[in-house]
Amino acid sequence: MTERTLLQLIPARDTSDGAGVRLRRSIGQGNAARLDPFLMLDEFASDDPNDYIAGFPPHPHRGFQTVTYMLEGHMRHEDHLGHRGELRSGGVQWMTAGRGIVHSEMPQQERGRMHGFQLWINLPGAEKMKPANYRDIPAGEIPGASFAQGVTAKVIAGTLRNGAAGEASQTRGPIQGLSTDPLLADLVLPPGAAFTTVVPTDYTACLYVYAGSLHVGADGQEIGAHCAGALSPGESIALRAGAEEARALLLVARPLREPVVQYGPFVMNTRAEIEQAIADYSSGEFTR
Ligand code: MN
Repeated sequence: MTERTLLQLIPARDTSDGAGVRLRRSIGQGNAARLDPFLMLDEFASDDPNDYIAGFPPHPHRGFQTVTYMLEGHMRHEDHLGHRGELRSGGVQWMTAGRGIVHSEMPQQERGRMHGFQLWINLPGAEKMKPANYRDIPAGEIPGASFAQGVTAKVIAGTLRNGAAGEASQTRGPIQGLSTDPLLADLVLPPGAAFTTVVPTDYTACLYVYAGSLHVGADGQEIGAHCAGALSPGESIALRAGAEEARALLLVARPLREPVVQYGPFVMNTRAEIEQAIADYSSGEFTR
């Protein structure tokens, strides 16, 4: 089996978005930091309400999917289609912006800790203009898995396959059947623990470490906290935690290999399609 190695580190940069929410952005901090089909990954983590209270008032999206995963906290999603979703600790919202959605994502707490992630996954050109849609997945519907050495995982999308000899297993997340075939799992490794998973050889794979550190492959290259690590192609991913407990998102998906033209919250294949998105949003076409 070909083991994947670390190709590129993308340390998160401090930024802010929405009405002033403080974020750490790794994937998508620049055009060269995209990992097809992953367009962007933001982590928000704060005990200070000033960092999150302003939230994300109504704004549009077109051409991709957004995945919000809350570790701690409470946000409310509302959109122009009349949906309302409560996103609570451990829950996920999987939204397909498709041809267009206008939504808000607002904190429903005035104090305490808020910690979570937003991931943008691109859609193929043939699906960019499909109707918008979203799904709330409460914590109780996200399966957990336990492995040797005290390693645990929550599987949000796709199937997590454990590759260690003698403990082959697979855990299926609630999101399945998308054209990018994403695997999204939240991994926890005790200090020094090892975990191996098997993935399709030519899929994009990356880890975003949000606590502790992880060592990848036989040469043990390190991904530190608040850093994304893009991996080489290969069949297996072998991980080992550093001296502290490591927590990381594992992101694996089929690359689209299509041109990406982005203008803020619109991600299309051509500049003409971006101009159309801007025109459609200005004319109210998104909400008709
Ligand atoms: Mn949004």
